[in-house]
Amino acid sequence: MSEKYDVIVIGGGPGGYVAAIRAAQLGYKTACIEKRINKQGDPALGGTCLNVGCIPSKALLDSSWKYHEAEEAFADHGIGVGKLNLDLDTMLQRKDKVVLQLTGGVAQLFKANKVDWLQGTGQLKANKQVVFKPLEGDEQTLEAENVVLAAGSVPIDIPVAEVDQQIIVDSTGALEFTSVPKKLGVIGAGVIGLELGSVWARLGSQVTVLEAVDTFLPAVDQQIAKEAMKQFTKQGLDIHLGARVTGSKKNKNSVRVTYTDGDGEHEETFDRLIVAVGRRPYTEGLLSQDAGVTLDERNFIYVDNQCRTDVPGVYAIGDLVRGPALAHKAIEEGVMVAEVIAGEHTQVNYDAVPGVIYTHPEVAWVGKTEEEVKESGEPYKTGAVPFAANGRALAAGESAGMVKFVVDEKSDRVLGMHVLGPQASELVQQGVISLEFGASIEDLQLMVFGHPSLSETVHEAALATDYKAIHVAQRRRKK
Ligand code: FAD
Ligand code: AMP
Repeated sequence: MSEKYDVIVIGGGPGGYVAAIRAAQLGYKTACIEKRINKQGDPALGGTCLNVGCIPSKALLDSSWKYHEAEEAFADHGIGVGKLNLDLDTMLQRKDKVVLQLTGGVAQLFKANKVDWLQGTGQLKANKQVVFKPLEGDEQTLEAENVVLAAGSVPIDIPVAEVDQQIIVDSTGALEFTSVPKKLGVIGAGVIGLELGSVWARLGSQVTVLEAVDTFLPAVDQQIAKEAMKQFTKQGLDIHLGARVTGSKKNKNSVRVTYTDGDGEHEETFDRLIVAVGRRPYTEGLLSQDAGVTLDERNFIYVDNQCRTDVPGVYAIGDLVRGPALAHKAIEEGVMVAEVIAGEHTQVNYDAVPGVIYTHPEVAWVGKTEEEVKESGEPYKTGAVPFAANGRALAAGESAGMVKFVVDEKSDRVLGMHVLGPQASELVQQGVISLEFGASIEDLQLMVFGHPSLSETVHEAALATDYKAIHVAQRRRKK
């Protein structure tokens, strides 16, 4: 007889492991099937995010930023460090340690919550049956009242630059360079391309980013995106917009890349090339012919607002489904489906999912951009205030960037908050809270903000929407 579970989750990334823990908390007999083997050769939970995504990239972003500061900023503070030395091995080992600590922590949480971690591959069949193929041993068929598909995503391949993880790498390979490439090419000026490009630029690479689209960060408020472009260019990232890569030819230790832009065809040779052109849902092997779930035209598993697929009792979450490919979106969907299974009415607020780019300065946003609101035709007001007017930012030598609010003129409701600057990933949470609570901009204007703090720029930007900011000269008074 096959083993029966209340909930089987396929995929142990931030969506899947959270769904499994929450389901177990709610009293369900739960299993999570995860097939990942980490770089040490051991089975690992945590998915893309903990193993080869959010966490290792942030570890390297933090290490490389410290190096950059020691090189460029310490002297300003009167700190001399002598000749700087980069021990890349130690830097990479530290990153691996952080990853192991976190992925091991998820395994502990599974034990504590009595979630069965089934190490191997899962495939959904008809009638909520799941074929489980262990890493070792025979295949077995499991049954479940509920199945949560959380298989995540993988990097998109492009035939014009085939990844070999040596010279041409994807985001996973770009976390493992054993020496700093002298000349580094990056295809794609999206979140991942900019973050990984920044890591290696700070460590000394000469970085060129080739981006097919003419607009920089099209999903980001364009006032913020334009300023970000200036800042990143100042840091030495050579970003070519409207530059479509059309081919690549590898030599022993370099790659010649051809690309076209408005001026015609160009060629450039790099020591290493990162392909960061986006990610696609990972459905290979996940669904048997008779599984019954529907895919949409882009191969995402089709789900409703609460992540139900077309098969009753089967849910899909995270990077496998529509919406931004972000760990925190996957996490909240994991919580939601477990609670929906339990008959609760949990609903992720998709209008208040923040986006962050962990460059320096960071870019973070939530809600609508000015461009989106303008297009809707509804009257709106904006307020933008630079960190250059903030004492704490100046004291820290972190005065690049700004906070901007987009506000509904009629209702005074906050529609969007956009930040380029220090700790933008933390500051944006104030916008998330505002949207969740349906705050008016007046609410933020009337709040007391600690001084000196970076958050004061949030306050000033709120005041600026009504020409009431104190620390910037505002051109026009409110009538
Ligand atoms: P995943 O994390 O992809 O996990 C899915 C898991 O399912 C995988 O471990 C896979 O092995 C397993 N699996 C797949 N198929 C099967 C099967 N058939 N049987 C068993 N197991 C299976 N997001 C952020 O929010 N913030 C960031 O800073 C950030 N940085 C990133 C940096 C990089 C370099 C990358 C690549 C991504 C980053 N992301 C970031 C995105 C984030 O990693 C994803 O949005 C998130 O991991 C999605 O979670 P998930 O649970 O849907 O899938
Ligand atoms: P994201 O989806 O945010 O990770 O961004 C990936 C980026 O890669 C997008 O902005 C694409 O326009 C860009 N891109 C895709 N293919 C190419 C290509 N052949 N040459 C240059 N840029 C590309």
